[in-house]
Amino acid sequence: MINVSSVSFRYVDQWVLRDISFDVTKGEFLGVIGPNGSGKTTLLKSLNRILVPQEGDVLVGGVNVKEIKRRELARVVGMVPQEAPMVFPFTVLELVLMGRAPYLKGLSFEGEKDCEIARRAMEMTDTLQFSKRVVGALSGGEKQRVLIARAIAQEPDVMLLDEPTSFLDIKHQIEIYDLIKGLSLGNGLTIVGVSHDINMAAQYCDRIILLSNGRVYKVGTPEEVITWENIEGVYGCIVLVDKNPVTGKPRITPVSKDIERVWSGS
Ligand code: ADP
Repeated sequence: MINVSSVSFRYVDQWVLRDISFDVTKGEFLGVIGPNGSGKTTLLKSLNRILVPQEGDVLVGGVNVKEIKRRELARVVGMVPQEAPMVFPFTVLELVLMGRAPYLKGLSFEGEKDCEIARRAMEMTDTLQFSKRVVGALSGGEKQRVLIARAIAQEPDVMLLDEPTSFLDIKHQIEIYDLIKGLSLGNGLTIVGVSHDINMAAQYCDRIILLSNGRVYKVGTPEEVITWENIEGVYGCIVLVDKNPVTGKPRITPVSKDIERVWSGS
């Protein structure tokens, strides 16, 4: 579904992404992890041509994103931003309906079918109940679900998410991850999600890319990527990696470098 080959990107003179290559298959949930500044957001933006890499190519569904009209690209790739500035007092329904924009002809308004698709997207994300409320007045978790509903209404084949749970408490984090996982398993949606939470990525993602200084340090299953050697090599901190007793997936526990002094109380 996605084919990234030899992508390099720089904002100014320093390369921020360097020779990145990977594939994502249909219905796969790929997690992108790495330290702050390692290039996660830049990579995500390169996938839907918000940024155009100076080198390499990104193909979605076999088509080079450079060669496709923005409107057509928006029918294929949906984006859930980390936080969307909500300057205008849109209602939830209005915002979700914006997901239909790539399908509208000229300056026409949304029709019956668009409203029905938006309603279904709100049902899936449990946001229908506050469809008439102003988005700015919602809680962080509710707002995030509305942004996901907008992306679902876009009916894309690929959904990109930039740290979708950064500001959420644990209950809402789980709800969002369950929702995203359900979209990949049940609807065959291909998901690429940046995550700052290694444990969440390990539990939910089929495969993970670990970025370090704009390069792919490791790509593979959670078991292949989430090892103490890789985490120490990239983040420079010590972690214990064991198996989550419920899921059998790798689980990390941070360990203080100064463990003896800290835990003996001396
Ligand atoms: P991450 O998402 O992993 O934190 P980013 O992709 O946001 O990393 O940033 C990667 C690097 O690119 C960082 O060094 C950051 O300072 C730099 N960067 C990000 N956005 C810009 C920009 N608009 N102009 C110049 N440099 C940028």
